[in-house]
Amino acid sequence: MSVQFHHTVGRPAEREWRSAIGRGLRCRCPACGRGRLFRAFLKPVDICESCGEALYHQRADDLPPYIVITIVGHIVVGGLVLAEKYANWPLWLHMVIWVPLTIILALALMQPVKGGVIGLQWALRMHGFSGTPDQPERQPGNSEPV
Ligand SMILES: [Zn+2]
Repeated sequence: MSVQFHHTVGRPAEREWRSAIGRGLRCRCPACGRGRLFRAFLKPVDICESCGEALYHQRADDLPPYIVITIVGHIVVGGLVLAEKYANWPLWLHMVIWVPLTIILALALMQPVKGGVIGLQWALRMHGFSGTPDQPERQPGNSEPV
């Protein structure tokens, strides 16, 4: 009979955040790397079908769009500046390249970036991933470790 160790006392076991983010970026469960992370475009599964890890605790919220906007902004603005400097494109050519590229990049990055954010939250045991539910209100005088 195998004995499973559960860390019930003291700090829980460290989770490897790099592999968790990597699995999230590949849209896989941050815990096992096998189960699907999303059941729809930006809807994570509640429970990993492969390892049973609860994934409904994620609170990615607005962070993935901010990250995507930052990445896409750098790519598109950087490309536009380079094209302006080294190529003599007419305005319409800029429009047909940069506008669709912005949309395609944003759509292509949203799911993996959200997966990466969920992986990080899982690894850092943020929100419900700690094993205890999010407290709706922080109690006054309740000293929480930072
Ligand atoms: Zn899993």
